[in-house]
Amino acid sequence: ASIASMPTEVPSANRTQDRSAPAVAMPADGFENTPDTDPSLGANRAWADGIRSRMADSVLGDETVAGNTLSDVAALDAVIARAASAGESWRALGADGRAAILHRAGEVLEQRRADLLEVMGSEAGKVIEQGDPEVSEAIDFAHYYAESAKRAEAIEGATHRPVGLTVVTPPWNFPVAIPAGSTLAALASGSPVIIKPARQARRSGAVMIEALWEAGVPRDVLQYVQLDGRELGQKLISDPAVERVVLTGGYETAELFRSFRPDLPLLAETSGKNAIIVTPSADLDLAAKDVAYSAFGHAGQKCSAASLVILVGSVATSERFRRQLIDAVGSYPVGQPWDGSSRIGPLIGPAEGKLLHALTSLEPGERWIIEPEKLDDAGQMWRPGIREGVAAGSPYHLTEYFGPVLGIMTAKTLDEAIGMVNAIDYGLTSGLHALDEDEIAQWLAGVQAGNLYVNRGTTGAIVQRQPFGGWKKAAVGAGTKAGGPNYLVGLSDWEDAPVTA
Ligand code: GLU
Repeated sequence: ASIASMPTEVPSANRTQDRSAPAVAMPADGFENTPDTDPSLGANRAWADGIRSRMADSVLGDETVAGNTLSDVAALDAVIARAASAGESWRALGADGRAAILHRAGEVLEQRRADLLEVMGSEAGKVIEQGDPEVSEAIDFAHYYAESAKRAEAIEGATHRPVGLTVVTPPWNFPVAIPAGSTLAALASGSPVIIKPARQARRSGAVMIEALWEAGVPRDVLQYVQLDGRELGQKLISDPAVERVVLTGGYETAELFRSFRPDLPLLAETSGKNAIIVTPSADLDLAAKDVAYSAFGHAGQKCSAASLVILVGSVATSERFRRQLIDAVGSYPVGQPWDGSSRIGPLIGPAEGKLLHALTSLEPGERWIIEPEKLDDAGQMWRPGIREGVAAGSPYHLTEYFGPVLGIMTAKTLDEAIGMVNAIDYGLTSGLHALDEDEIAQWLAGVQAGNLYVNRGTTGAIVQRQPFGGWKKAAVGAGTKAGGPNYLVGLSDWEDAPVTA
């Protein structure tokens, strides 16, 4: 189904910086990204229609979930013991042996692309336009980490060992790519894995894991669990046999895990509150399109989503730019993912708490230029909204909401706009739309975020080209970037690590 190919070079205006680079770099030369499915081809559209017609009734993954839901401590202990003792034979395969299985996993994931899209739509509200690149990313992780493991082993003078039993706790918003990436990296480095996919996306996780089993990852080495009750979660995190936890989720969850076990070896990618700055030198047409996609794609339920746009100087009063943003909302119809006209599916659950607040109320000085509209009784379907007049230091400026709402701020200068970005506690992604080279250089030097995107949206990092990970409160623990040359370092114990050439 995947026919179109994607450029593998980084376009010159598309920059990211790995600011957490440790001493060891393991690039995977010759790696090529997996192409997404090209929707401009009729055959691919027919293929997608077939997936959508199965989505509403999909039961994929059900069996695995039912067979692996643990309800007592004894069952969990047995899983931990099996995984811990499976580590040795997995490690003994060596990097080449493990890499061969991981490459095969990439192939099986490609074969199961349609199944993965079906289950992500049925269970997690993901439309195909959003799910398809996610499957490509999962496949990329398989091939990339396979090669990274081989390179790590080949670095002269370095001895490393996998950290050992790794627990992976992924989120529901990328129910295939994130669990796949964390799991494949740990497996590549030689560690056995217990994975507990998010409850709201447990079947999607199951289908991904079935693909890895089918590729030859032994079931003891990779174990899927769902846990009945919070005590079991606490028990799993706290078990001394667990040597590393890889978490992608809210900052509060990282804190909770640390409260379970203060010395927890944690690799966590946490919250984001991300902004795109638009200066008068920008291509405003492109900026409006990228801001809308970054803000409203998957209903804004991405750590990488743009929740703020900061308009500099004359852009602040550009009626044309406002009009384009408003029109862009109109190009994101909301509906079920099995309805081919939907570009935004339902939220993962009814909007509540601070998200509901952000969708339904304004702070002093703010106005809706488009008011979010609830389209169903349950409160899961929302037409996106845009508020303007967001004040520096206000709750909307500084809080992560994780939903389909965008706020507009204005700044007199680029310097002031950068200050507004840096005032935010999290530093995950950040965007700039500007064509002026000096502005680009100023922003790159000054802005505090892990992933920096120039003249591109802030979502959809691509393995190898844009390793993904944050700064400040967006990263907890060893903050190496997923899909980058150093990620396996965070999952290995190094002795005598060499200096990068
Ligand atoms: N890697 C994803 C992206 O670049 C975001 C992952 C997340 O939301 O945690 O859009």
